[in-house]
Amino acid sequence: FVQRAETPDGGQELYPWVQLSGHRENFRPGLRPGTVLKLLCPCEADCLRQLTADPLLGEFVPRYFGTVRLEDGTEFLEMQDLLAEFPGCTGLMDCKMGSRTYLESELDGDPKPRRDLYNKMVEVDADAPTADEAAAQAVAKPRYMMWREQLSSTATLAFRIDGLQRLMASGRTHPVDLKRLRSRPEVSDTLAGFLEGRPDLRDAYLARLRKLRAALAPSEFFALREFIGSSLLFVHDQSPGHACVWMIDFGKIRLAPGRLSHTADWLHGNHEDGYLTGLDNLIGLFEDMQFP
Ligand code: ATP
Ligand code: MG
Ligand code: MG
Repeated sequence: FVQRAETPDGGQELYPWVQLSGHRENFRPGLRPGTVLKLLCPCEADCLRQLTADPLLGEFVPRYFGTVRLEDGTEFLEMQDLLAEFPGCTGLMDCKMGSRTYLESELDGDPKPRRDLYNKMVEVDADAPTADEAAAQAVAKPRYMMWREQLSSTATLAFRIDGLQRLMASGRTHPVDLKRLRSRPEVSDTLAGFLEGRPDLRDAYLARLRKLRAALAPSEFFALREFIGSSLLFVHDQSPGHACVWMIDFGKIRLAPGRLSHTADWLHGNHEDGYLTGLDNLIGLFEDMQFP
């Protein structure tokens, strides 16, 4: 859909809204310029409301404007459209953070091996099932979810590139199969492509990522919560140094039983998510990025 942004002179500018991941039906145009609607998850709305008001983290999340009910009865949350400041956006990337993308409670569900998960597995890799799984033509959910993480860089770098789009005058480009982007060199090459050979973008993203790191470290909100399935959204356009990163997607943020380091290894029961490990790896990858 097409969005409206307010220009500095009080006029309005139209721009196409681009969604990198998730279900298409979950998003709608906002009720006012500069906002977008996302299908309501009370947990996410509550989290966004607190983060918007958070003195440390507020500047790193889309501003929250409350919930709205549309004519058909469906409820949405209204938040700042992060693309509004980038109507001429040429680069957009979603990095899903953490060394685990499912909640511990999702593992504690029904352990009965499932045929549908087996089918999904062999679709990607016919050799993935064990002999027992192949004989039963079924895979248990915890095993399926852990296998899936090993395919991407989630398990090794504690983040993965979940969506990426470069918008150029000639049209959109679709890069490599992101699902199987796993090794550091592969991820680094993809990030380099995203930066279009521009050191100004690398520097702007690095500055913002370091600032985010410095804000997360002392944050009580962050220390007390498991951050699962949450992303960093990278946006830039063609103006020199015009690039920004925000935290998005808070549907699987849960209070942990105690304080988390966000860097320790996950053991079932300790709720660690590896968020800061992933952020440090991202920062390291940008730091190592050299341009001729
Ligand atoms: P999933 O859980 O499968 O990742 P989701 O339905 O929870 O999907 P999000 O991940 O929150 O949805 O968002 C999907 C995409 O929509 C993002 O990758 C990004 O491209 C876009 N998006 C989300 N929130 C915003 C925002 N506030 N401003 C601009 N774009 C956004
Ligand atoms: Mg997401
Ligand atoms: Mg989500």
